[in-house]
Amino acid sequence: LKELYPEDLLNVSKELTEGEVKFLKQLNDLLESKYRDSINDHWINATIPEGFFEEMGKLDYFNNPLLFEGREGARMASQMFQFFLSYTVARFDVSLVTLLGVHQGLGHNAFLFGGSKEQVAHYIPKLQSHELRTCFALTEPEHGSDVAGGLETTAKREGDKWIINGAKKWIGGANVSDVIPLFAVDVETGKPKGFIIRPEQEGVDIDIIENKIALRIIPNANIHLKDVVVEEADRLQNINSFKDIAKILYSTRAGVAYMATGAMAGALRATLDYVTKRKQFGKEISKYQLIQEKLAMMQGNLSQAITLSAQLARMQEKGEYDEVATSTAKMMNALRLRESVAMGRGITGGNGILAEYDIARFFSDAEAVYTYEGTHEINALVIGRALTGDSAFI
Ligand code: FAD
Repeated sequence: LKELYPEDLLNVSKELTEGEVKFLKQLNDLLESKYRDSINDHWINATIPEGFFEEMGKLDYFNNPLLFEGREGARMASQMFQFFLSYTVARFDVSLVTLLGVHQGLGHNAFLFGGSKEQVAHYIPKLQSHELRTCFALTEPEHGSDVAGGLETTAKREGDKWIINGAKKWIGGANVSDVIPLFAVDVETGKPKGFIIRPEQEGVDIDIIENKIALRIIPNANIHLKDVVVEEADRLQNINSFKDIAKILYSTRAGVAYMATGAMAGALRATLDYVTKRKQFGKEISKYQLIQEKLAMMQGNLSQAITLSAQLARMQEKGEYDEVATSTAKMMNALRLRESVAMGRGITGGNGILAEYDIARFFSDAEAVYTYEGTHEINALVIGRALTGDSAFI
């Protein structure tokens, strides 16, 4: 464990089972051996490493017996494992963990929670084995934080069919998805519904958002929908209100808190690597007190985030899923991540703005983590609502 997570100074990872550690080690070795040399180039060129999805599929995360030891009848890995899974990939690269997150988290859960028994039986095994790729299409050009009440994409029922019109923005991995769960308002009832869209369908036009300064490896896309015809059989039968969509969002918000923690570890690692090599005034800069104080703060932020994430995982494991705890972890870990990457970027001097030194990638990617899955302010308002009993935003 010390070798796998040397930065876990409070020994939280000791709570993982032997099987889980073995799996995480395999995952970490795979990332390091296959993608280490090319990851910064992929970031610069905005390309997904070839075969990444297939490699992740081969790890068979949803069926790997290493993960179910002692978990009676469970087909779900432990929440502590889920935390360290996200952490480990994020420590390597935040785009890759986001790509997995939209597929295995938001997209997968849209089918799992939103699908009928038949839809779940048909799609979930294919999504879990990565035979089918998916994403999550909720945000619109004019509606991000206020998407709950603001959805403008419409669905009009005509017999056994629905006609969808509108637009989506920021949809991670939409262009590399086979099936897209997409949300639109039923013009008759005014309530949101979920639909399974296929990129090749007539009336669906997907274009990639260019020139992002964060998460360059994961493509984010605009989806334009013009009179797209969807069969009633391709409507996600259990999405009938925004509450149903919110359930999916909350199910994965914890994952973003975990990613933020892993990203902090990645930033610390890149910074430590630099300070032990870079000499100024005749000595490695790691030997200077002001540098060590910043490293200690980065470690402190990370230890706090690991502790907070682990407690969230423990609560979830016990079925104590809590909106406020999740929003607190997302808000605080993303905030501390932003602080940590700025310190790391400062410590690495001019080289810190060059992609080849890794820290620039974490520095930029932190900006996306800060914004998606509920911005800082929106998560603060969730907490504020719990504290005061007054909703300041819905
Ligand atoms: P806005 O909602 O316009 O907010 C702008 C600012 O105003 C923010 O600082 C916000 O906190 C603040 N604000 C808004 N309302 C209030 C208020 N009431 N009080 C105080 N402050 C407020 N969406 C998907 O559906 N699928 C995806 O796969 C996906 N991937 C994404 C990937 C990336 C890299 C990014 C950047 C976004 C992604 N999103 C995705 C969208 C994401 O969820 C939204 O960006 C997010 O919800 C914020 O919406 P917005 O960007 O429109 O900002």
